[in-house]
Amino acid sequence: MHKPLIAGNWKMNTTIDQGAQLVMKLRELLKGIQDIEIVIAPPFTSLQHLNFLLADTAIKLSAQNLFWEKNGAYTGEVSGEMLRAVGCEYVIIGHSERRRYFGETDETVNKKILAALREGLKPIVCVGETLEEREAGRPVEKVSAQVRSALNGLGPGMVKDLVVAYEPVWAIGTGRNATPSQAEEVHDSIRELLYEEYGMAAVNDMRIIYGGSVKPTNIDSLMAQPNIDGVLVGGASLNAEDFARIVKFEKSPER
Ligand code: PEP
Repeated sequence: MHKPLIAGNWKMNTTIDQGAQLVMKLRELLKGIQDIEIVIAPPFTSLQHLNFLLADTAIKLSAQNLFWEKNGAYTGEVSGEMLRAVGCEYVIIGHSERRRYFGETDETVNKKILAALREGLKPIVCVGETLEEREAGRPVEKVSAQVRSALNGLGPGMVKDLVVAYEPVWAIGTGRNATPSQAEEVHDSIRELLYEEYGMAAVNDMRIIYGGSVKPTNIDSLMAQPNIDGVLVGGASLNAEDFARIVKFEKSPER
């Protein structure tokens, strides 16, 4: 049984002060929760300050991106070592917005995953099909290809901390979420692929989370699916009460 992971992707929202206000509310609302791993991914500019505010809590920090080189003449980029130094444990890699607006490809995603693992960061790797690919009946095919290229060159000993986030592109920020059974079908296929590539031991450790318009109103039915080990939340993670309700999802008897 995997410890559920609930992660909030704040995207390009919140100044340091706004982020601090949100964190102070989350500290209160999420006090004492131990059976769920809670992660927030604020913008780079707030990480250090929020790390300080989260010091005595169980809420963990993630970055939203990193560059694969260790250091050097790469203006505007941030390395894994820098993220570790400001308290990040996780890093989101290959979010569909980065693929769409910043030219990220399966190849650059793979390089970033290798760099994150080298620096001791846990990657949350985003994959997902477009609406055209779903309507053409090929979500599993597309997602499997993305997962295979993302994990290219990673041996079984390297993947246990890696999280796969299935985020259908058509469901991100649109208010239109995959139904629990649509999500479950793709999660099941990812689990199968991971099992084929890495064997049972790795699969027991790796988590597969869902992202795409997760809200307090749909979290319980998503988390009731056997292969959904958590969620990556965008919009709703900017509202402390909504995010807290998502973290406190109703557990089905099997969990
Ligand atoms: C995301 O950004 O990863 C996401 C799933 O966004 P939203 O919840 O707003 O759809």
